[in-house]
Amino acid sequence: MSMRIGYGFDSHAFKAGVPLVIGGLKMEHDEGLAGHSDGDVLLHAITDALLGAVSAGDIGSFFPPSDPRWKDADSAIFLKTALEEIAIAGYRIVNIDTVLVLAAPKIGPLSGDLRQSVADLLGVSPRDVGIKAKTPEGMNLDHVALAHATVLLESIELSVGPERMLAVADIDAELNGSLETLVGGGRNIAALGRKVPGFDPEDLT
Ligand code: MG
Repeated sequence: MSMRIGYGFDSHAFKAGVPLVIGGLKMEHDEGLAGHSDGDVLLHAITDALLGAVSAGDIGSFFPPSDPRWKDADSAIFLKTALEEIAIAGYRIVNIDTVLVLAAPKIGPLSGDLRQSVADLLGVSPRDVGIKAKTPEGMNLDHVALAHATVLLESIELSVGPERMLAVADIDAELNGSLETLVGGGRNIAALGRKVPGFDPEDLT
């Protein structure tokens, strides 16, 4: 099994007159986040973390702001594409951790819903999603929302448990038996090019 990590960061300024959507969750607030898409700063950071983990580029290379198709786009589309990229690369999410930095609204009362929303979009359990909200103390960034995301991936392996290995060993023994019948018991089966199992079936107990 192999593992990969990815890291993503994003920032968007607050802007009056647009809805606030963070982590796919609509939030009651007097301002939303400005952006070519829906400005979902958290999903953008997670998308970049996923793409980065499999060295597949970044959100801008898939969805350039210059492309009118992504005007006011639902950022769940970006996330879905990143999930497809990691699946194509042969990986799945182990867990994800994030930090959201914004002065308002207060995330505490929304944290359960936010975690569930992100978990649903990623297709993982909320247990595997960390979201920590911070206020931008001393940064003079009260008009901005920032998000950091880290993701851990593991490779998708076919099951090679003892049962499967024994089944393979049985098939192998059967094939060798057939070959012996065909060529006579005195011949060296391995010399015929049959692959020897990469394990000793006697060691599987
Ligand atoms: Mg963004």
